[in-house]
Amino acid sequence: MIGIFGGTFDPIHYGHLRSALEVKDVFALSKLLLIPSAQPPHREQPVATATERLQMLELAISHHPELSIDARELNHDGPSYMVDTLASLSKDYPHEPLLLFIGGDAFKQLMSWHQWQRLFDFAHIVVMTRPGVVINTMNEFFKQRHCQQLTELASTRAGKLYFQHVTALDISATAIRHMITQQQNPGFLLPDTVLAYIRQHQLYQRH
Ligand code: ATP
Repeated sequence: MIGIFGGTFDPIHYGHLRSALEVKDVFALSKLLLIPSAQPPHREQPVATATERLQMLELAISHHPELSIDARELNHDGPSYMVDTLASLSKDYPHEPLLLFIGGDAFKQLMSWHQWQRLFDFAHIVVMTRPGVVINTMNEFFKQRHCQQLTELASTRAGKLYFQHVTALDISATAIRHMITQQQNPGFLLPDTVLAYIRQHQLYQRH
């Protein structure tokens, strides 16, 4: 199974990295792809450029060959829709189930994503439960796809919804950006190499 972990990564932090590593092991994934988004259609535009966010990702995983970066969303113009990304990944990996990992906060917004129902045509969706986010409502569409056994995911290529608890690290990129703007030190919330890059390129210094 191939894992897909999309995000703006503005900047990447230990909340992302710990979850990525953990699900790589729990689901015995053959690959875990971190996919930075170019122009996220459903949220504010990133502060750092696509190139800067990609370079921070490269620094963050440089000693972790078990994680990979897939920059396909940065390589085309216009907004990047996850449904198109999944369609293209499913052509590249025609024989393996795709698992799209999203946080609990992202799951709450899922129905606002472009053609959200079609996501399930190309991948299973795994919701990583995150501190402070309670998921208590699921509509009929989700209930029908909800599965409780991890083994069910390997038996079909797409279409299921699964919840996985990951080690709770209450870290967000927004909080890190805010700390930098306030001239506070976000050390130990993200890799030192990424923090050094942020300082060198003077990122996130203004509101
Ligand atoms: P921002 O604060 O700018 O919204 P973020 O920290 O939430 O950023 P994103 O790049 O938007 O990071 O998130 C990418 C994915 O990682 C999303 O699915 C999100 O839910 C998940 N995620 C973010 N932070 C954590 C965390 N601390 N633990 C687990 N998952 C996380």
